[in-house]
Amino acid sequence: MCAGSPPGVDLREASVTVQRPGTIGAGRVRPERAQLVFDFAEGDRTQVDLLGGKGANLAEMTKLGLPVPPGFTVTTEACRYYLERGEEPQSLRVQITMALRRLENDLGRRLGDVVDPLLVSVRSGAKHSMPGMMETVLNVGLNDYSVKGLAEAAQDERFAWDSYRRLIQMFGRTVLDIPAERFEHELDATKARAGVATDVEIPVSALVELVEEFKNIVQDATGREFPQDPREQLDLAMRAVFNSWNTDRARLYRRRERIQHDLGTAVNICAMVFGNLGETSGTGVCFTRDPASGQPGVYGDYLSNAQGEDVVAGIRNTLTLEDFAALDPASHAELTRIMRRLETHYRDLCDIEFTVERGKLWMLQTRVGKRTAAAAFRIATQLVDERLITRDEALARVTGHQLAQLMFPQFDVDAERVLLTRGMAASPGAAVGKVVFDSATAVAWAARGEPVVLVRRETNPDDLEGMIAATGVLTSRGGKTSHAAVVARGMGRTCVCGAEEIEVDAAGRTLSVNGTQVAEGEVLSIDGSTGEVFAGELPVVASPVVVYLEQGLDAALAVADEQTGELVRSVDRLLRHADQARVLRVRANADTAEDATRARDMGAEGIGLCRTEHMFLGERRVLIERLILADGPGARDAALAELLPLQRADFVALLEAMDGLPTTIRLLDPPLHEFLPDRTELAVRVAVAQATGRGDEPGVAADVTLLSAVDRLHESNPMLGLRGVRLGLSVPGLFAMQVRAIAEAAAERAAAGGRPLVEIMVPLVGSVMELHLIRDEMDGVLAEVAAAAGGAPHIPIGTMIELPRAALTARRIAEAAEFFSFGTNDLTQTTWGFSRDDVEASIFATYLDKGVFTVSPFESLDRDGVGALIRMAVQAGREVRPDIKLGICGEHGGDPESVHFFHDAGLDYVSCSAFRVPVARLEAGRAALASDTAGGRL
Ligand code: PEP
Ligand code: MG
Repeated sequence: MCAGSPPGVDLREASVTVQRPGTIGAGRVRPERAQLVFDFAEGDRTQVDLLGGKGANLAEMTKLGLPVPPGFTVTTEACRYYLERGEEPQSLRVQITMALRRLENDLGRRLGDVVDPLLVSVRSGAKHSMPGMMETVLNVGLNDYSVKGLAEAAQDERFAWDSYRRLIQMFGRTVLDIPAERFEHELDATKARAGVATDVEIPVSALVELVEEFKNIVQDATGREFPQDPREQLDLAMRAVFNSWNTDRARLYRRRERIQHDLGTAVNICAMVFGNLGETSGTGVCFTRDPASGQPGVYGDYLSNAQGEDVVAGIRNTLTLEDFAALDPASHAELTRIMRRLETHYRDLCDIEFTVERGKLWMLQTRVGKRTAAAAFRIATQLVDERLITRDEALARVTGHQLAQLMFPQFDVDAERVLLTRGMAASPGAAVGKVVFDSATAVAWAARGEPVVLVRRETNPDDLEGMIAATGVLTSRGGKTSHAAVVARGMGRTCVCGAEEIEVDAAGRTLSVNGTQVAEGEVLSIDGSTGEVFAGELPVVASPVVVYLEQGLDAALAVADEQTGELVRSVDRLLRHADQARVLRVRANADTAEDATRARDMGAEGIGLCRTEHMFLGERRVLIERLILADGPGARDAALAELLPLQRADFVALLEAMDGLPTTIRLLDPPLHEFLPDRTELAVRVAVAQATGRGDEPGVAADVTLLSAVDRLHESNPMLGLRGVRLGLSVPGLFAMQVRAIAEAAAERAAAGGRPLVEIMVPLVGSVMELHLIRDEMDGVLAEVAAAAGGAPHIPIGTMIELPRAALTARRIAEAAEFFSFGTNDLTQTTWGFSRDDVEASIFATYLDKGVFTVSPFESLDRDGVGALIRMAVQAGREVRPDIKLGICGEHGGDPESVHFFHDAGLDYVSCSAFRVPVARLEAGRAALASDTAGGRL
C-alpha cells in the first residue's frame, strides 16, 4: 500500500473494466472453506484486498506492538458473497462467534454483559478509502441492562447514557434507515429543554429521557423495539456495513475515483475505547506532514470528551496538537513517538485516528494519507532527501494526474462564487471572460484585448479561430471527445462541454440557464477542471509549474515564494528522473510552428501528429472550395497550385521549429463537406433569393453551384465516409500536392543547413491496397522533388492504424508502411461502434452508472478491446518489419493509465497535446519502473 502505489487508485484497475450486472465477485467466493474472519493479530498491511485498508493497517499496527484495541476483521470476500446472494455464508456466523469469544477471553469481559460489558465498534473498511461514504456503528453491545453495568464500571453515569443514546442514534440511522433528522430534532429539543448549548452539557437525567425518546422513534419507524440482544446488534450492524457498499453515494464516489464496483468492503469489529469519558479523554486525527501543502511537521486536530465523528463533524471547535500537548503532555509525547514510528515504518505520510481514554492513548486507524497534488510532489522529494525512500520510489508516489492538476491556472479558493451550472470537465483550467456566441466576435473582441469565453451549442472547425482567440470554451452539447473538447485540450484551452442545462440562443445573443439570462458581453468564469460554470468574474492564480516548464527552473524560482519554490524543484527533480527511467519517447500533436515550439519547451522529442486540415481553414477555405467545385482537371490543378506554396510555407516553419526532431505530418483526413458552408443556411439563402426573383444574380448562381456540391458531398455518417485515404484516392492531385509541399519544404530546410526529419502519414487506411495505391503516387512525387533538388533525405511513409481492419491485417499493411501510428480516437470509435461526437452525451452516463465501464474508453484506453487490437498489430508489424516504428497519437497518448499500457505493449513513442507532454514523460518513467518490477514489456 505504501511504496509503489499512488494515493487513491490502483492504476491497473483504472482502465476500462467490464462487469456483468448481478454477478459481484461470482466464482471467486468459496466461503464455506475460506477464512472469513481474521484477528487483528493475524494479518498485515499487504492484505488490503482481503482485509480492506483499515483492517490491514490495524493488523500492521498490532504487529508493531502499538496500542491498538483488540478486534477482528470480516473479509471483503464475505461481503462479496453477501452482496451476491443476499445472505451471509453460514460459516461466517460461526467464525464470528469464535473471534468474539477469543476477544472476550482476552479482555475478560463479555459483549453487552450486565457487569462491566465489552462494547465494540463496527466499521467499514474497503481496499480504497472512501471517505464518509460507508457506515460506522459505535458502542454496539449496549442495552437497557448493560448501560447500567457500563455506568458502574466507568463510575460515570452520564458517559454510559450518552454512549447508549449514540448507539441508538447511529444504529437507527445506518442499520434501520431512519432519517437522521428525527434523532437530531429530538437531541436539539432535549438541549433546549435543558437550557444547554452543546451535547456534553446535557445532564444525565435528560440523557436517560432522550434514550427513551430515541427508542420510541425506533419503535415508531420500524414497528419493532430497538434490538436488545448484543449479538443481533452486531450482526445487523455488520450487514448494514455490507449494504452501504452499494448506496448511491458510494457508487457515485467509486465511479468518480474509478474504483471497481465488485471489490466489496471489509468490516472491522473492535473493542471500544472511549474518548467521551470526561476531560481526560478525547479523540483526534493527525497527519505526519501537512497533507494540503506538503509542509514538513506534524499537523492535527483534537477534541476532548468526544467520540468518533465529533472531530470531523465540526460540532465544537477542535484544538491543535500544541493545545493537546499542553492538556495531556504524556499522551501527546506518546502520539508524537508513534507518528514518527509509523512514518518510518510506512516510509510515507500517514494519517492517524486516535482516542485518549482517561489518559491512555489508543490508535484507532492509520493509513498512507491522501494528499493534494502539491503535497505529493513535495513529500516525495522530502522523503528522498531524508533518505527514507529511493528516487524510483518517489517517482512511483506521484502521478500524471497530479502533475496535470499543478499545471492549470486555478480559481482562488477563497473567492466567493455563484454556481450557474455544471458540464463536463473537458479541458482543465480556469477561464474568465465576456460571453460571445460566435467565432468572429470572439476574434474581434479578443483583438481589442478583451478576454472572451466562446459559448456554442457545439463547435465545428469553423470555430477554430474563435477558440484560439477565447480564453475558454463552453458548449451545451457534446462529450469529452467532442470537437470542442479535443481541440481545446490540444491548445491547452480551458473548456467545459456538454453543459446541458444551458440553452444557447446564438441568434438572440443570449444564453439561459436555470432561469438566469446571460447576454453577450456579460462575464462568466468556467472551471475546466471541475466542469463548473460561475456567474461573474472569479480571481485566477497562475501555475508556477507551467512557468517552470515553459521558461525553466530559474525563471520559476525567481517568482516563487519558499513553498512554491520547493514544489517547483520537486517537479523538476521527479520529471528529470522520469526522463532517465523511461524507454517510451514522448512526442506532441502540434499543427503549427507555434504549437511545435511550445511542445519542445514542454520536452517533446518530436511531432507525432501534425493534422493538416487546420491549414485549410480561415482565408484558405475558399481555395479548398474551389478545388471541390472544379469542373475539370484545369480548374482543379489551378486550385492545387495555389495551395501548394501556402502548404510548403507551413511545413518549412514547422520543420524549422522541430529541426533535428522527427516530425510526422498527416495527409488530409476530414470529409470535404467540413470545408463547405452549412447546407441548411445555403439552401435557405438560395430559396429566398429565388423566391424574391434574384435567382439570376451572379452571387446566387454561385450559391446554387455550391449547394449542389454540398448536396453531392452530404453524408449520413461522415465519420465513416469520404475521409482519410479515401479522399486521397478520390480527389486526384490532393495528396500529391501535400506530399510535394512536404518534400519541397524538407529540401528547402536541408538546403538552408537544417536537419528536417519529416515523416508522412496516411490516415484511415483499412487495406494494404489503399496504401500501395497512394504510395505509388507519393513515391513518384518524392522522386521528382529529390531529382529537382539534386538529392533529398529519405522521407519515411507510414500509416495510422485506426480501423479494426487495419489492426487485423497489420501484417499486410506493414509491407507498405515504414511506421504505424495508432489513432486510438478512431480505433475506439470504430471498435465499439460509438460515434465519438454523440455517445458521451447520450449514452455514457447510463453506461458508467450501470458499470459497463468505469471510465470513458475515449478517455482511458479500453485495454481488453482496443488494446487487444493494438497488441495484435504491434506483433504483426514487428514480425514483417522488425525495425518498424510504432507510436500512438490519439488522445490516449496523454492519459496516464493508457501510457502504462503503451509502454507494456512495446510501442516506441506516445504523442499527445503539448500540454500533456510533461504528464506523458512522468508516466512513461513510472511505467518503466513498474514494468521493471513486474518483469518487462512486450
Ligand atoms: C485518432 O483517430 O486517434 C487520431 C489521432 O486522428 P483524429 O483524432 O484526427 O481522427
Ligand atoms: Mg483519426
